Amino acid sequence: MTEKDRVLAKDEKYVWHAMKPYNPEATMVVQEASGAWITDTDGKRYLDAMAGLWCVNAGYGRTEFADAAHDQLKKLAYYPLTQSHLPAIELAEKLNNMLEDDYVFFFSNSGSEANETAFKIARQYHAQKGDHHRLKIISRYRSYHGNTIATLAATGQAQRKYKYEPLASGFIHVPPPDSYRWPEDSSARPRELKSVQAIEQVMTWELSETIAAVIMEPIITGGGILIPPDGYMTGVKEVCEEHGALLMVDEVICGFGRTGKPFGFMNYGVKPDIITMAKGITSGYLPLAATAVKREIYEAFKGSEEYDYLRHVNTFGGSPASCAVALKNLEIMEKENLFERSKQVGEQTLTKLRNAIADHPNVGDVRGKGLLMGIELVTCKETKEPLDVKRVNQILSTCKKEGIILAKNGATVAGYNNVISISPPLTIEEKDLDFLISTVKKAIGQW
Ligand code: PMP
Repeated sequence: MTEKDRVLAKDEKYVWHAMKPYNPEATMVVQEASGAWITDTDGKRYLDAMAGLWCVNAGYGRTEFADAAHDQLKKLAYYPLTQSHLPAIELAEKLNNMLEDDYVFFFSNSGSEANETAFKIARQYHAQKGDHHRLKIISRYRSYHGNTIATLAATGQAQRKYKYEPLASGFIHVPPPDSYRWPEDSSARPRELKSVQAIEQVMTWELSETIAAVIMEPIITGGGILIPPDGYMTGVKEVCEEHGALLMVDEVICGFGRTGKPFGFMNYGVKPDIITMAKGITSGYLPLAATAVKREIYEAFKGSEEYDYLRHVNTFGGSPASCAVALKNLEIMEKENLFERSKQVGEQTLTKLRNAIADHPNVGDVRGKGLLMGIELVTCKETKEPLDVKRVNQILSTCKKEGIILAKNGATVAGYNNVISISPPLTIEEKDLDFLISTVKKAIGQW
């Protein structure tokens, strides 16, 4: 038995992996990583074009992060945010400056928790103002918002949900904008876009005075890299304002430079009421998440006899070392201009990728913003019928054999798992992106 076999045997025995049946052939035991490259226990190197799970925006192997965590752990390893500590205060101020508005931050450990926190804040906020019926939350089909009972209820991917019902009640889904399969009239004003009207209609039919909030990613990521038409987010914000609902933006993947701006919503000219963030906040070096809430919402919770407090606590949320690492991460992102790099290198890469593969009969669409890209695979360009998932898997495993990790995304309903996503560290070298493009082209095959 080789060392790798021994490790895999133990892994199979003790570790429950996410989302897929166990397959030792396909399981990598990752040992170390540097930049955009990971190395497994056999010493084989892979270009990680998914930045882990859309996390490692500043790249692997940054010893500055280890130093920041080490220094903080020696000074103050832990104290809950029922009181306060300096790294959390400094980080909240820094994030507020990045958001260019006036927000207050509730820290937690994961994207799911950040969204759960947002739902509770939205419901209680309306109740504080006497709107006790504003409990429903509108979300979109194909979205993913987390693994807990309420965030799964918000998620719009049936295949992930039905084994765990009953989920939290009060979540309603509407179709997302899908510029490839459901094109919109590009000359339409925001309120006239079909995908905005779908939200307004649902609000009306559900009684708009029962709607607490709309939650959305600026770009649906895990559901297949769905880039909205211009005007969509401003249209949704307008509808929310008119009907008294909050706009919650899930920046768990789109945040921290992924789409070529500090936050994804900044591409679309809106100011969300609540913003959730995780993953890239520490570039994945330590767990951390945050729910940013507009000051006027926070003010409604200020203690007085009339008002109530937020009955929500999180033991590890905003732990000092996580905050110290997040601060180091943001410092590095600014020093190395990674947001702008994501925009520029992303644009160049999208053009090169389109030139390389867009004419292939199985390539329906190549789309992206910043270093977030998707290739939608079809059997036929005219009918847009999704390419069979077995063929998509073959393409991914050819890429893996050649040394590139990519992912398959889509609606996770049968037949629609046909989008290859590309989301590398923002530091990825241009020669590695060229290697990625030529490998994907080879894997898709001759035409
Ligand atoms: N929101 C989005 C958009 C996500 O992609 C994810 C995780 N992939 C989550 C929320 C949940 O984050 P976590 O896994 O950290 O709970």
